[in-house]
Amino acid sequence: MSPASDVSAIGIDIGGTHLRAARIARDGTILARARAASDPDPEVVLARLIGLVVELDDPGVVAIGVGVPGRVDFTHGVVLSGGYVDLSGIDVADRLKRRFCRSVILDNDASMALVAEARLGAGRGAQHLALLTIGTGIGGGIMEAGRIVRGRATAGQLGHILVDPAGPPCLCGRAGCVEAMSSGTALARLMRAADLPAGTTAAELLSGGIEGGEAVLAAWAGPLRRAIDTLSASLDCELVILGGGLGQEAAEALARLPDAAGWYETEVVAAALGDDAGVIGAGLAALDARPRGCRVVLVNGVPASGKSRVAGALSQATGWPVYGLDTVKEPFLNEIAAAGRPVERPFNRVLGRASYRAIFALLAAAPEGTTAIVDAWFGFQPREMLEEMLAAAGIEDVVEIWCTAPPETVAARYRARAERRTAGHPGPEYADELRDLAARAAPFGFGLVLVVDTTAPFDAGTTARFIAGSWH
Ligand SMILES: [Zn+2]
Repeated sequence: MSPASDVSAIGIDIGGTHLRAARIARDGTILARARAASDPDPEVVLARLIGLVVELDDPGVVAIGVGVPGRVDFTHGVVLSGGYVDLSGIDVADRLKRRFCRSVILDNDASMALVAEARLGAGRGAQHLALLTIGTGIGGGIMEAGRIVRGRATAGQLGHILVDPAGPPCLCGRAGCVEAMSSGTALARLMRAADLPAGTTAAELLSGGIEGGEAVLAAWAGPLRRAIDTLSASLDCELVILGGGLGQEAAEALARLPDAAGWYETEVVAAALGDDAGVIGAGLAALDARPRGCRVVLVNGVPASGKSRVAGALSQATGWPVYGLDTVKEPFLNEIAAAGRPVERPFNRVLGRASYRAIFALLAAAPEGTTAIVDAWFGFQPREMLEEMLAAAGIEDVVEIWCTAPPETVAARYRARAERRTAGHPGPEYADELRDLAARAAPFGFGLVLVVDTTAPFDAGTTARFIAGSWH
């Protein structure tokens, strides 16, 4: 298996003209590109996709993502319907999986573009987004709290928001969908109806000086405004992003419409990644969805450094379970005390070591992709032991939260709680030794280290988002 930093995916974007592909790093960087012509024959498309993957393949590639025009059942990896390129008759995901022995995902092309825009483009930093791709037709995708909204399977077909029941017919079988009124195809029809010269572009209309141009732009953007207002009212997203070949022009045309202040207002922006959004999003989504090992947040720090409070708050904010060293060890100490056996410090260390092993054995047995918080002071054990346990448990990502407090505070906290603790823990006399330990202890530094001063309030939500961001 490749080191985590070298892991990449191949993202593919299937369009009506081109099949675009790129090898994508975990941070969304494009490492290599390839492309081929599109074709209406799905078998020809699949053969060309295989050629593109062969061209871009590399030992670091762990997953393949394919953005498909049309309705896709993401969960089952099946294309349900398409347009010019219709892959609904063939088993694209399975055949790519068999050919390349990698994890393969399929999703609607606009949802893939939305993943990229949210991570690196116009929606960076936002969690609640909608994307409309304005091209030959109008595609769409919705993101809620950072996740693509799918409904039963195909949610986000925003081109079929109804904006005028008396409008022109739509491919979906109804009339007056926004796709039928504000797509590139609809703009061409509006220009013909206004007797504008053939080949006039949206950019030329926007630059002004074409008689009748403003009216055509208003007729084109008006229905889009209504669709966006409907999205605003139903989703309350932070931003609506307009992508596709005419995203920028549509955003400019919308900005010229008279202001209709109302309850539902969402900022509308043009997409930032252009044609690359599809391949970047497909690569990132494939990396997100691939089967993976566990992720662990080590909450480390000397005894009484405030670890358990930090681990508990982080668990509350995320739902990640806490595997605490004391949680494992305490029942043993209680049973041993009840049996009237003394627990000397050397034996306490043995119990500690056994407890670490129990925690990592549980992590090794946890379902794929589990994220867990380990609340334990690791300083009494050799670094090699932790390294070996992490590897044996198949842990792929480690973040360490290093809990600190001034040595005097740590010693005082320890004294205050020493009376209440089970036999087997060192008594209050340990506080002085602990003060010296707190002054020289340091984190392990296996992965990213976050230092938390436990005398200050702990913001679990921000910390959780930061950790989750570091794993992409
Ligand atoms: Zn429709």
